[in-house]
Amino acid sequence: MNNNVTPYKLTLYISVGVALLSVALHLIHSYFSNDQYDWIFLSLLFGILFLVTYSMTRYFLERYIYNRIKPIYKIIRKGTVNKEKISGEAFSTDVIKSLNSEVSKWRDETTKEIDSLKSLEEYRKSYVGNISHELKTPLFSIQGYIHTLLEGVEDTKIQRKFLLRAAANTDRLLNIVKDLEVITRIEEGSVFLEKENFSIVKMTKEIFQDLDLKAKEQNISLKLGEGSSQNFFVHADRESVQRIMSNLITNSIKYCKVDGSTVVSFYSMDKDVLIEIADNGIGIEEKHLKHIFDRFYRTDQSRNRNIGGSGLGLSIVKHLIEAHKKTITVKSELEKGTTFGFTLDKAKK
Ligand code: ADP
Repeated sequence: MNNNVTPYKLTLYISVGVALLSVALHLIHSYFSNDQYDWIFLSLLFGILFLVTYSMTRYFLERYIYNRIKPIYKIIRKGTVNKEKISGEAFSTDVIKSLNSEVSKWRDETTKEIDSLKSLEEYRKSYVGNISHELKTPLFSIQGYIHTLLEGVEDTKIQRKFLLRAAANTDRLLNIVKDLEVITRIEEGSVFLEKENFSIVKMTKEIFQDLDLKAKEQNISLKLGEGSSQNFFVHADRESVQRIMSNLITNSIKYCKVDGSTVVSFYSMDKDVLIEIADNGIGIEEKHLKHIFDRFYRTDQSRNRNIGGSGLGLSIVKHLIEAHKKTITVKSELEKGTTFGFTLDKAKK
């Protein structure tokens, strides 16, 4: 069947062909037997033969095509096959051509579905692997300290030191589990934002106070930069923003260089406020930048620093910012420093 011939056209050609052939045979017969042509009879013969051939060919062709393509449609149209519709469609269109395009569309969709299932499975495997890896490190430390203490340590100072280390690792374990819970709740969509108006500058000052001791230990200065005199009010979920800001400022202290500084600036952008947290710390290599918001992702420098991160902080930050329908950006240069920037809605006056 060539590209333009539909079963409908084929039926028409056959019916006209059969009717014409019969009329021609009748004419030849009349010619040789010297009979008179009866035009009314010939017209009737043509009409009746045309109708009978058309109906019969159509009936058998429709049945034949329907039985052949039904199993394919059952698969690609996921079980919903309407006999009248399919027979009608198959009869009046170039069925092979439309079946071909429908099958290739179905194949593309199915390939996509399989690919996404495969990557979900990969993701699940690496997620479970990452969790057990992150939990194993502090658990091994706790186990080591407890067993050493059980074997008997005379010196009370060392006993206390080991207990303090075990306690610190327990805290770390708990923090990882809490972070995982937060991520799961955000992904499940069960975190509800309670938006309110508050001063982002005032919140930053409070976080500076909370982190003052940590910053002093590293000789880092925490500073308010541009826009801090304007006392910007934002409309957002206070608890989430508190978490975002604490996380970003804590990171700037964790990944600092001695005597470094962290500057938080605020910029007015039409309906938004842009908040930038800039440090002059160790920076992040270009190749790591697109991954740092992934769960459990940590750069080699931060692993080497052995500061006990889990690589979940920035993932939570990104999730919370996206829950506010905003985005976070990062600029960084190795050994020069890093700047994170994100926007929040300005409070409506
Ligand atoms: P972590 O618990 O390791 O700090 P995060 O998700 O907060 O996890 O950060 C992911 C990684 O991004 C860190 O391990 C670190 O390598 C890098 N990073 C984050 N913030 C900074 C920063 N201010 N300076 C340099 N590197 C950073």
